[in-house]
Amino acid sequence: MPVLSPKTVHHVTSGRSSSCYTLFVNELTGRQKIIEALKGQMLTAREISQAVGIKEKEVLEHLPHIARSLGAHGTQGPSLLVEPSTCLACGFVFRKRERLKTPSKCPVCRSEEITETRFGVFEQ
Ligand SMILES: [Zn+2]
Repeated sequence: MPVLSPKTVHHVTSGRSSSCYTLFVNELTGRQKIIEALKGQMLTAREISQAVGIKEKEVLEHLPHIARSLGAHGTQGPSLLVEPSTCLACGFVFRKRERLKTPSKCPVCRSEEITETRFGVFEQ
């Protein structure tokens, strides 16, 4: 069993049943790897999945938790930055932050030429 600091244990187990211990150690490892991969650079979900070795879908599931655990932009310490997708045809910016997955179509001009949403972890 890996040795975790009391702070880490508290963070990892908060709100969860302790019977899922192995599960959240795995999740924690996945999230930590994503955070490490994103430190100081912006990557798309696909690039993260290649860097970390997990599925793109899983990356998108981890990202909201990472955003929450790192704290909001403007607080101390590193935070997750999200660069929104933009439509290359008309310049529409997908600003809704809760939509982490790159949208398939522009709602304005219906173009499918959309830049991928990118993520990065930066110290502030
Ligand atoms: Zn457009």
